[in-house]
Amino acid sequence: MKPVNVAAISDTGRVREANEDSFLVDLDLFIFAVADGMGGHVAGEIASATAIEALRANVANGVDIASSISKANVAVRAKAKSQEELSGMGTTLTAMGFDKNDSLAIAHVGDSRAYLYRITNPETNEYVFERITKDHSLVEELVDIGEITKEEADVHPRRNVVTRALGIGDDVEVDTYNIEFKIGDRYLLCSDGLTSMVRDEDIEEIIKAQQSPKECAQELVRKANNEGGSDNITVVVLDVLSESVAKPDSINSASSISPQEANLKKYSKKGRIGFSARVALAALVLFALLFGAFKTLEHYSTQGYFLDEIDGQVVLMSGTKDGAFIWEPKVDTQTGLEFEKLSQGDQLRVERNTQFDSRQDALNLLEAMRNRQSTAPEIEILDPNEPVIPNEPGLSTSPSITIQQGTSVSND
Ligand code: MN
Repeated sequence: MKPVNVAAISDTGRVREANEDSFLVDLDLFIFAVADGMGGHVAGEIASATAIEALRANVANGVDIASSISKANVAVRAKAKSQEELSGMGTTLTAMGFDKNDSLAIAHVGDSRAYLYRITNPETNEYVFERITKDHSLVEELVDIGEITKEEADVHPRRNVVTRALGIGDDVEVDTYNIEFKIGDRYLLCSDGLTSMVRDEDIEEIIKAQQSPKECAQELVRKANNEGGSDNITVVVLDVLSESVAKPDSINSASSISPQEANLKKYSKKGRIGFSARVALAALVLFALLFGAFKTLEHYSTQGYFLDEIDGQVVLMSGTKDGAFIWEPKVDTQTGLEFEKLSQGDQLRVERNTQFDSRQDALNLLEAMRNRQSTAPEIEILDPNEPVIPNEPGLSTSPSITIQQGTSVSND
């Protein structure tokens, strides 16, 4: 019997043109991961793919998972420096595998998540369903300090702003969780394209109801697309079938010095330096951390786009809604769409200030909104007495646009 049964799907979704997510399923190395890339053009795809490959290569060399993620950060940084158009790219990375024989390690940076579903009592069907990881995101931090509730976080316009990612700084802090796995456990790794579309309760229902990891993965992706599919959706579903899941030989025969030992050596060396040097070092480390956090925030607060309504007109703004800290959003495009003429769903999208990583994604949705508007029934209810104003070139917000669209509807 195979020790695990695993299925993975990465789907572009219904709005994006490209898929910037990547995943890893390697049964030989026993390593599984999801990465969600960010950056203009092809940069996001390259960021996530680079991180995944670096993770795999390091695990294959016997490096533990958390250190492999740190090394993946170095790889993403190096790749970004190699080409102008890749500069500033970043990615999340959430990985699962074995560090020690008996425990499963889940390590991550960013807002791609890991969940566990475990039946605790098969007779009564009692179970636990829990999120293992904690998002490195602005909204999760706001929830932590009590600024907003979890429910508010789910619909928060800045919910896709991450506070930690690979590619942003020379060093990255990796969170690691160790889990005593059990036969029957079902693990889910996923990008935020799933969790921003599908509520935890619905993920739980699907995880519980679906027989196989494959059916489960398919159903999760289908649900995210049904809910709008506004981002790339990537899921890895893994069932533990046997307790004989053991560390593969390639990891047991790892090089003689483990990364933990390397770290210990580094610390003991630090311990020998004088007190004042240690204070200076601590100050330097603190400064580096603060600076890194600042750069990360700047990076994710000044890039990105969102929809807004100004004087009844739909506008595309660049930056982050309400400005993030000191970075104020700017008007990018006057779309010429009138808020009142949008379908109800699209009005909600504008009211909620739907956010986009790339300008192209925003333009794609606006195009879809324009098309939906011209076929929306409410547009047919035009006031026949309203004078037809000739279309003036360059005046994209003139009312004549609306009337033209109304006319085209009546031709259908
Ligand atoms: Mn995403």
